[in-house]
Amino acid sequence: MSQIDDLPPLRDVVERHGLMAQKALGQNFLFDLNLTGRIARASGPLDGETVIEIGPGPGGLTRALLANGAARVIAVERDRRCLPALAEIAAHYPGRLEVVDGDALAVDLSSRLDGGQARIVANLPYNIGTPLLVGWLSLEPWPPWWRSLTLMFQREVAERIVATPEQRADYGRLAVLTGWRSEAKILFDVPRTAFVPQPKITSSVVHLVPRATPEPCDRRLLERITLAAFGQRRKMLRQSLKAVLAEPGDWIEAAGLPETARAEEIPVSGFVRLAQALAARP
Ligand code: SAM
Repeated sequence: MSQIDDLPPLRDVVERHGLMAQKALGQNFLFDLNLTGRIARASGPLDGETVIEIGPGPGGLTRALLANGAARVIAVERDRRCLPALAEIAAHYPGRLEVVDGDALAVDLSSRLDGGQARIVANLPYNIGTPLLVGWLSLEPWPPWWRSLTLMFQREVAERIVATPEQRADYGRLAVLTGWRSEAKILFDVPRTAFVPQPKITSSVVHLVPRATPEPCDRRLLERITLAAFGQRRKMLRQSLKAVLAEPGDWIEAAGLPETARAEEIPVSGFVRLAQALAARP
């Protein structure tokens, strides 16, 4: 483990503050400062940047973000046991770390940015990773206040985020929303042995950059359509989309799609055309 600051090793921090990992809070800590440094650098050049971190825990990734030049880190942590350890990091980097004691699903992050932008970087608690991502991808107006998302997920979730119709089993609502509004890729895998305690499966770091001008369509219509289409993913559109429109044939044709196609064969652009064609109906 390389030394990135004068703070004590993370294992000592965890022991001194009694931070036994709690499963209910999705706590799998990273102690390897080489790895946390790699994640921090993967988010982009951090000099002068504001970074939002969800779930800093004992602060391994937080320290890497600060050591790699982030001007300001806003870290939202729900587990109050971690606050004294995070206060030590804040004291080491005066004026650069703000710890928010709260639930990331409920905290209004943008109000802390004074109209500015931020990168979001996190080793997410597995149980709220997808709702957080969907929330960030569903923001209005678009483009959003976040400049990029660099997020650790379980690998199977990461694969569902970046999937295309070529990866049929993984391709679904999450991939359509992601592909419509962002460019997303898996950067690298992180073995289960990197975490304390070890989870059962491999994780992956995913990087998303918002599209400046996604194809125009009503997000709520898009969501209704993908809910119906992937809700019966093996059925043809002429059947599955009856949940949206009783007689969907003309509408599917207006979107330039064969009504015999199945949801998992339709690229993001096809779903966008369905939303546009639905909005255009008298
Ligand atoms: N960033 C640390 C690391 O990489 O070692 C900890 C990552 S651990 C996977 C997830 C962290 O998210 C834990 O510290 C946990 O307490 C915190 N957490 C869980 N639910 C949360 C929530 N709703 N809001 C904010 N933080 C949460």
